[in-house]
Amino acid sequence: MKLTLDRMCITTNDLCLTCSKKIKTGEAGQLDIEIGKVIIHAAKQNKELNSITLNKIIVTRKGAYLIINPGDKAKFEKSGAVLMNTLSDAVGNDVFLIEMPTKVSKLVEDLISPVEPVRTSTVFIPPFGEKEIKVQIKKEDKPNLPMTQDVLSSITKELFGMNAHYAYV
Ligand SMILES: [Zn+2]
Repeated sequence: MKLTLDRMCITTNDLCLTCSKKIKTGEAGQLDIEIGKVIIHAAKQNKELNSITLNKIIVTRKGAYLIINPGDKAKFEKSGAVLMNTLSDAVGNDVFLIEMPTKVSKLVEDLISPVEPVRTSTVFIPPFGEKEIKVQIKKEDKPNLPMTQDVLSSITKELFGMNAHYAYV
């Protein structure tokens, strides 16, 4: 099991220099400790959780996104709804599992499911030619989008360094 902070540091509440630094720089926070504790505890029952990797926790207004490794989602699901509910309680908001995507288009698909984008592309925004992700959505799907552009953008920015916007077609 690899978490956003050392397993030992989370369990003992006694942070080593590396973990303390992560907290100090804002790379991790109290939430990383709370979520880590829940997963470590659940792993006593569900041994499969011992092989998960939690890469990052992204907090948005919509909830906390746990960025895990490909294949890890099924390991969490072995614990059933209990684990997800306990995680939500620890966060005080909804919790979503996202397997680390290699492509930004796959990330967008996962995040806005069940809405399917018509097309996801990278565009250059004038005047400085900054890259941004353009997500084309059918007009009729607009009410079904599970997250606002701001929330989507904060996640793509965190993982791929690019903002995202919706374009309705
Ligand atoms: Zn540590």
